[in-house]
Amino acid sequence: MKATPAEQQELLRLQSLDTRLQQLAHRLGSLPQAAPLAELAARDTSVRGTRAEAVGGLEDARTELARLESDVAIVEARIARDGDRLQHTSSMKDVAGLESELVSLKKRLSDLEDQELAVMERLESAEGVLAGIDEERASIAADTAKLEAERDAAAAGFASERDAAERDRVVVAGGVPADLLGLYEQRRTRGAGVGAAHLQHRTCQGCNMTLTGSGLESVRRATPDDVLLCPECDRILVRTDESGI
Ligand SMILES: [Zn+2]
Repeated sequence: MKATPAEQQELLRLQSLDTRLQQLAHRLGSLPQAAPLAELAARDTSVRGTRAEAVGGLEDARTELARLESDVAIVEARIARDGDRLQHTSSMKDVAGLESELVSLKKRLSDLEDQELAVMERLESAEGVLAGIDEERASIAADTAKLEAERDAAAAGFASERDAAERDRVVVAGGVPADLLGLYEQRRTRGAGVGAAHLQHRTCQGCNMTLTGSGLESVRRATPDDVLLCPECDRILVRTDESGI
């Protein structure tokens, strides 16, 4: 393949833009906020699990309280009914029976009220736990929003740099003949992102091999418009004043 030395040297500019674009793509994918954001997301998931448990405990306590309140109402109604009967009976036997039932009903009422108090305390402490969890979630959400804003600002910087490099690339690639550009793209795919390498002081900057012997001889024999490939790494070898041949 033939191309003028100027066209071949444009490949070095193209290569440096492609290398920069590769770095920017990598940086966009690994911004410093990524790890702490993942950690916050994991913490939020675990806190949400704790919250579901706390809500379950709270609901159990509420159900228990409602049941106790209904039991208290039933016992109170029976106490009222027995009291009323006591007022209206003249039978000594009935009086004794009602009085003994009232004693046990009042004992039952007092037990139920004690249980009610204990459940209310449980309810209060469960509400406190839940409020603490919600506070922690709010703080995680605030930290997340702050880091996301930082990440988006950093990404915007990289993204605008990438857009500028992409525009430059279109211009530089436009100055390279189609067949040479095709060869460059093909070598770049095979060469881990590097398709064209500068031959500097007889050393290929793509693989760091220094040309000697027959390799050096064939480069010396080539005309300036011959497109050369590195005998070691097969990348396009671009000669300049610094090539030392
Ligand atoms: Zn090489």
